[in-house]
Amino acid sequence: MSTLCHHLFAWLLMTALACTLPIAAEATPSNGPAKNVIVMISDGMGYNHSEAASLYASGRRNSQVYAGFPVRLAMSTHAVGGGYDSELAWNAFDLAKAGATDSAAAATAMASGHKTRRRVIGMVPAEDGSLRPVENLVERAEKLGKASGVITSVPFAHATPASFVVHDENRKNGPAIANRMLRDSAVDVIMGCGHPFFDRNGRQLNAARSFKYVGGAETWTALQAGTLGGDADGDGRADPWTLIEQRSEFQKLAVGATPQRLLGIPQVAKTLQQGRSGDPQARPYAVALLNTVPTLTEMTRAALNVLDNDPDGFFLMIEGGAVDWASHDNQSGRLLEEQLDFDRTVAAVVRWVKTCSSWDETLLIVTGDHETGYLSGPGSNPDWQPLQNRGHNRPPGMEWHSDNHTNSLIPLYAKGHSADLLPQRVQGNDPVRGPYVDNTTVAEVVFAAFD
Ligand SMILES: [Zn+2]
Repeated sequence: MSTLCHHLFAWLLMTALACTLPIAAEATPSNGPAKNVIVMISDGMGYNHSEAASLYASGRRNSQVYAGFPVRLAMSTHAVGGGYDSELAWNAFDLAKAGATDSAAAATAMASGHKTRRRVIGMVPAEDGSLRPVENLVERAEKLGKASGVITSVPFAHATPASFVVHDENRKNGPAIANRMLRDSAVDVIMGCGHPFFDRNGRQLNAARSFKYVGGAETWTALQAGTLGGDADGDGRADPWTLIEQRSEFQKLAVGATPQRLLGIPQVAKTLQQGRSGDPQARPYAVALLNTVPTLTEMTRAALNVLDNDPDGFFLMIEGGAVDWASHDNQSGRLLEEQLDFDRTVAAVVRWVKTCSSWDETLLIVTGDHETGYLSGPGSNPDWQPLQNRGHNRPPGMEWHSDNHTNSLIPLYAKGHSADLLPQRVQGNDPVRGPYVDNTTVAEVVFAAFD
């Protein structure tokens, strides 16, 4: 067997083993409901974040796999009471800095189809000012007998994953939110950071740093003992979490047998890589990556391998959460690392759809939740300048104009089952970004795809 052929065979074997179910000979009729939906959110990703990663990865614009998806739109992100005016937005440079949403309101819109106030998780204001919970996509998937999961590169009870699973008046109630996700929800896979006994460089600590990201010391002890978890499958019996922590455990779960419910907490503090020591302004990878924590791609492969055991299909939300954190701190190199990890994860999901499922039964949506940092090309303000392409493996010329979120339109890409519903719901035509949908459309289209 030639080397090439040998590699090809090994690859085919790997991909075959990675699929729990054999590839169906006949595609699901496209007029039936979607079997699987995967929503991928790069937190803080505007057009220039994605373009910067493309230029670094290839020296070309639009080189990511999602740039070739059949649906490519812009999306507005404002919270309840806000708006996006395309004439105003391109009238004066600083206007995009006003009226920005946060991850809680943005994720609630994408998870439920309802606009809400900033800081609110999965609830909407009523006439009298009180808040009422609204159904999210994980709850709908579970109601339909599907499996569900949320994974992120920041703590798992953070605003974006939390908004897809639970309801709370304030995103700051982290420990309570974590406990509701772990004890009360029916979600089957949770992965995210916040390990109590490891620092930001993945070094083990003698005493706990903080239990707040994992719901408190008592919750952590029960997770370690394998006794914590509510009823996920509706048979009235508890379904405890299987906890994994080591990178090798994440990697092993990409293929083969899986636990019923999987909780993945990598051995690091609040982020996989973005929070590690070393010059945060250094070029990408100049500071060595921690090799003891999984990549977002490795986490995703394990999550897909668990979720695709359910013959009814699944819903999965994948967040590149530290894209936002690097952008708040205007760290160009770390932003590129985080966006590249996200982009590689999209490519891995596309490979999973092709080898283990099909575009006839699976919908994939790739977007952000808001733009962070007002990332622009050098010399911007009062005009908008493009990023400067400096070629493959070189950070492009870029400039930050904010340390916070903006109200800029962000990109949305979609492919697969029901993706054609998105262009039918366009709300306006931006002179620079083109046709745009609102972020509530994400949930509306997924609900319709599942219907
Ligand atoms: Zn942010």
